[in-house]
Amino acid sequence: MLSEQARVLITVKASPEPSKTYGDTVCVAGVRLHEDGSGSWVRIYPVAFRHLESTQQFKKFEVIDVELKRSATDSRLESYRPNWDTLKRDPDRTGKYKTYAEKARGPILEKLIGPSMCDLRAGVEADLTAQSLGLVEVRELRALKFTDHGPWTDAQVASMTAAMSQPDIFGEVDTTPILVPPRYKVHYDYHCASTTCPGHKPRILDMELSALQYKNRHRSDADLKALITLKFHTEMWNERRRTYFYVGNFGDVVKRKNFSVLGVYRPPRTTDYGTTLF
Ligand SMILES: [Zn+2]
Repeated sequence: MLSEQARVLITVKASPEPSKTYGDTVCVAGVRLHEDGSGSWVRIYPVAFRHLESTQQFKKFEVIDVELKRSATDSRLESYRPNWDTLKRDPDRTGKYKTYAEKARGPILEKLIGPSMCDLRAGVEADLTAQSLGLVEVRELRALKFTDHGPWTDAQVASMTAAMSQPDIFGEVDTTPILVPPRYKVHYDYHCASTTCPGHKPRILDMELSALQYKNRHRSDADLKALITLKFHTEMWNERRRTYFYVGNFGDVVKRKNFSVLGVYRPPRTTDYGTTLF
């Protein structure tokens, strides 16, 4: 398959998951920026993000240039494999990497809102290659649900350790600490914009949730839950904000109509990017 050069506004980085090949990987999603000013969803996978060189660890809302190839094993039309040797980032004069502020990314994202979560699920039920990434409106965010994550299985630990102890082409092994499992799996309980929505309870697979849990891993259960609730409910859903979820489905065809929440888009309620010129 041919590679193509792509310019991508990174919008979400998912939680790292154990991988037999790289130790652990994440799924990255964003908006591919086309020369005519339009944008389209793109999924970049697999990304061994924790194992990339620090100069390659791009940030959320950064625009990167990278060569992508259609995935040979994933039929979803948005899915591509990256070639990190071609990665170009965009530093400013001080060497810091630029990110798109809310005002700059708003007009790009607003055009990609919709269809509803119910309609995305119905689309995949009818056609496995239907739209697999989206930005869906949240009509009501009811609650967060917590369940214990538990430790990795022995098989997961064995395969992560084996992958990371394989010497690379320079004969060096990966010294990144092994991935620590989060204490909780966290699910949203919400209603989408569909008037007949029965409700959705997707798991949150956002790298920021994993990072928050890791950073606060020594806190009590009650403190950690309160902190997650503040960051992922109180701050994400209030009268000053419009709230949308970045959603993405599973590659596994059996689970494909199930979408996870990969991040939250919550512009100020008063903003109308549709009539703003940039
Ligand atoms: Zn719905």
